[in-house]
Amino acid sequence: MSYYDVVIIGGGPAGLTAGLYAARARLKSLLIEKALPGGLVTTTEWVENYPGFEEGIMGVELAQKMEKQATRFGLEIIQESVIDISLHDKVKRITLEGGRYYEAKSIILATGAHPRPLKIEGENEFRGRGVSYCATCDGAFYRGKHVAVAGGGDSAVQEAIFLTKFAETVWVIHRRDQLRAEKILQERVFSNPKIKFVWNSVVEKITGKEGVEALHVRNVKTGEKSVIQAEGLFIYIGYNPNTEFLKGLVKLNENNYIITNDNMCTSVPGIYAAGDVRNKPLKQIATAVGDGATAAMAAEKYIEENF
Ligand code: NAP
Repeated sequence: MSYYDVVIIGGGPAGLTAGLYAARARLKSLLIEKALPGGLVTTTEWVENYPGFEEGIMGVELAQKMEKQATRFGLEIIQESVIDISLHDKVKRITLEGGRYYEAKSIILATGAHPRPLKIEGENEFRGRGVSYCATCDGAFYRGKHVAVAGGGDSAVQEAIFLTKFAETVWVIHRRDQLRAEKILQERVFSNPKIKFVWNSVVEKITGKEGVEALHVRNVKTGEKSVIQAEGLFIYIGYNPNTEFLKGLVKLNENNYIITNDNMCTSVPGIYAAGDVRNKPLKQIATAVGDGATAAMAAEKYIEENF
């Protein structure tokens, strides 16, 4: 067992920035990430709305830069899954899969969110065989093929545009007749000749043999059913927060996002939340890093006052 000033759980932009600020504040800091550091940013090919990179930057490269910057100042990073957090007076115990644990004076929860499933017939069966939640990871398999994207937000539109690098046709299947995505993305998607829209429609069933062959679509306005021949379906209908492992430790909102105040304090003193796991209106890299910095500074103040 080791004892830390701050343990950060989650290694996306919020967690890595919290680590950078905590380490620079000379707090003994550990970041625990179950996969490779970077979080959802690494599933985005190109980031062009994070300031400082005037031409944009690859998602993976941005994540690597954030990691290097934080570890340069002494942040420790381990690749493990946290399964439980318990409170022992003011000390917090963070238990890893396998039973090992760390103790900390404060914790920053930056576990982000995971893609929401459509929960339709064929989705699980064809996962990894045509059904994907990551165009950056799987897009290249669809060179010259027909694919579809479900959703109408920033993710769906951005990834539909990305998929046109490979696919012959990209159908965007959206449940309304207007996109939720930001205007600049809408301009691009509407001017891309490879992208075709299926408005007011939802995918009800995915069928195929070895892999996906057909998407069974229903128009929610007319009830009319149709079939789209596509070999891939990329699902981008939003995210669910990664808060299950907290088992009620901190207060969540009705959608299971962590409730914080402006200083990223959760309902438990000494436990903070930052980034997409937090209940907030704008989920962006630019807002995640601000959360991470604020959480680390709040943790530093809490430690000074309580230990
Ligand atoms: P989102 O903004 O929540 O959009 C989800 C989309 O999926 C919406 O169009 C929604 O339709 C649709 N949808 C939701 N549930 C559905 C269902 N059961 N069946 C069919 N369609 C469904 O999610 P997101 O696009 O993944 O973005 C998440 C957050 O990350 C947002 O805050 C976004 O701004 C941010 N983000 C930003 C960028 C960027 O800045 N470039 C890139 C990616 C993500 P309705 O529109 O009808 O609700």
